[in-house]
Amino acid sequence: MRFGYSEQCLAHDTGERHPESADRLRAIRRGLAKRHGVEYVDADAASRAAVTAVHDDDYVDEFEMFCEDGGGNWDPDTVAGVETWDAALASAGLAQWAATTALSGSNGRETPFALGRPPGHHAVTDDAMGFCFFNNAAVAAQTVLDEGLADRVAIFDWDVHHGNGTQDVFYDRGDVLYASVHEDGLYPDTGDIEETGTGDGELATLNAPIAAGAGDADYLHCIDEALAPVLDRFDPGLVIVSAGFDAHRHDPISRMRVSSEGYALMTDRIRTIAESVDASVAYVLEGGYGLDTLAEGVAMVHETYDGRDPVAVDENPSAKTESVVEELRGLFGL
Ligand code: ZN
Repeated sequence: MRFGYSEQCLAHDTGERHPESADRLRAIRRGLAKRHGVEYVDADAASRAAVTAVHDDDYVDEFEMFCEDGGGNWDPDTVAGVETWDAALASAGLAQWAATTALSGSNGRETPFALGRPPGHHAVTDDAMGFCFFNNAAVAAQTVLDEGLADRVAIFDWDVHHGNGTQDVFYDRGDVLYASVHEDGLYPDTGDIEETGTGDGELATLNAPIAAGAGDADYLHCIDEALAPVLDRFDPGLVIVSAGFDAHRHDPISRMRVSSEGYALMTDRIRTIAESVDASVAYVLEGGYGLDTLAEGVAMVHETYDGRDPVAVDENPSAKTESVVEELRGLFGL
C-alpha cells in the first residue's frame, strides 16, 4: 500500500499515559518495517478552507487560538498542545491525499492509507471531542466532491466507536453515505439503528450498533447483509474506510472480539464490494489503542492488498447481531 505519513503528526503531544499518543504511529511503522511493498508518501497539510468546508469558522478560530496559547485540556479526554494545530492540518491533509490519490487510480497494491493523528471521526461541525479536532475523513470526502472528482462518497467506519462527528457533518446530505458498525452503548453513545439521516440525507446514514463481545462473524454479517446492498444502491465513486483498530479482542478500551485476521477479512470484503460498484478505496486511520494490535491490524490491511488471502471465519454471527441486521434491512427496504 501507499501510506500517507507526516512527521508533524508525531508532534501532537497528549502528555503522559494518554492512549492516543505518537507511539501509535511509531508502532504501526515498526510493524510495517519488514513487510514487502510498503511505500511512504508525505502530503501537503490541509488548507484552512478545506477544513472550514466541514467545520464552523468560529470553532476553527477557537481551536487555533487554543493551540497558540499553549493548549491544554479541550475536554477531559481531548488534549491539545502548541503543535496540535499543525498536526491536525497535517492529519486532514493526509486524508485528502488518500482520497484524491485513490480517485486518480491508485488501487491494488498502491491503495492509499492515511496514517494521520489526531484521529477525526468524533469531531463534529462545531466542536472537538473524543481525541479528534478535525474530521479527517469528512474533510477528504468534501474535498473530492468540491473538486468534482466524485459525485457520491461513502464512508465506512469500522472503528469500535460510533463516528458521531462524521454522521453529524453529513446527516442531511444525500451525496455522502455514512455507515458504521460499532459497539452498542460505548462512547459517545450515538449511532442508534433509527438514525438513518434526514431530508436529502434520508437513508444515507446506516448504523449497526452491535453488542459487546461481537467478533469477526458479526462484523462480516453486517458488511455482507447490510452495507453491501446499501453501497450497491448508493453507487459511490469513492469508499473511504474510517479504519480504527480498537474493536480488536486485545484492545484495552473495548469489549469486542475482532481478530487480526478479521481485519484482513473486512478489508477483502470492502475491496470486493468497491470493485463491484466500480468505486475507488482509501483508508484513513481512526482509533486503535493496543500498540501491538494496532500495528498488526494495519499490517493485515496492507498484506491483504499485497496478495495475502485471508482465512475464512468458522463461527456464526450471534442472534443479537442477526436481529440488528434484520431490522436494518427492513428500514432500508432490502
Ligand atoms: Zn475508536
